[in-house]
Amino acid sequence: MANKLRLEGKVAVITGAASGIGEATARLFVEHGARVVIADIQDELGLQVVASIGTDRACYRRCDVADEKQVEEAVACAVEKYGSLDIMFSNAGTIGTLGSVLEMDMTAFDRTMNINTRGSALAVKHAARVMVAKKVRGSIICTASVEAILAGAAPLAYVASKHAIVGVVKAAARELGQHGIRVNCVSPYGIATPMVCKSFGGNVADMEASICEKANLKGVTLNTKHIAEAALFLASDESAYVSAHNLAVDGGLSSIMKLN
Ligand code: NAD
Repeated sequence: MANKLRLEGKVAVITGAASGIGEATARLFVEHGARVVIADIQDELGLQVVASIGTDRACYRRCDVADEKQVEEAVACAVEKYGSLDIMFSNAGTIGTLGSVLEMDMTAFDRTMNINTRGSALAVKHAARVMVAKKVRGSIICTASVEAILAGAAPLAYVASKHAIVGVVKAAARELGQHGIRVNCVSPYGIATPMVCKSFGGNVADMEASICEKANLKGVTLNTKHIAEAALFLASDESAYVSAHNLAVDGGLSSIMKLN
């Protein structure tokens, strides 16, 4: 247990929390005193995460973020079970279909945009509706990516969808500031999570080696806990005056072009 509980008494919904960054964040938030709704489409994994965290601090809610009703219901679940909503971590995402721009499948493009960008907009909308109604000075965080800042290795639709999340966050922060609600992004560099390993067809060790080789900051391998720590900062009162910010957790990569 951490020395200082930074989210004591807070209630969070985390989408995409059955795995990877979302799961690590759910565990860290609970460690810091929050109660968490784990929202995902992988029911079995989600229930396993809840069982290992403890059913007194976490619950699972099936939620496909492409479906507005399910997002609204995940938020309602937090209010029904825990009485309020202080933190929304909109983290569910997909890389989508790999391939050339020349052969781009527009149905696949729409699906990526639906999950990544529209899913984030829905999470912002339904979290904010509850926070405004309950006069909660909440924190909304969206997982964008280094691919929201530059075009690194991901397909066009992913890059576009993640750039658009930064716009969603800025526009929402502009309007919601008057209610004391903060809206921010966290933008990770590569981590060998299931999403990345499945999409690029590598095992964890090979994927990590390839990610580390291209990294700017050497001597540390980025992991899901690093992103969870950034989300914890943005969720907690330690970031009380931070809004409309995109916090890159990328070892400086997105600010650097090495010329020598
Ligand atoms: P992950 O595969 O471990 O987790 C993603 C989770 O999202 C899964 O549990 C999956 O079931 C869930 N999900 C997918 N589609 C969903 C939907 N329609 N509705 C609800 N849940 C859905 O991968 P991760 O790397 O932890 O990904 C989390 C977020 O981090 C994503 O938004 C991803 O784009 C972003 N991200 C990842 C990296 C990386 O290198 N891993 C880098 C930058 C950004």
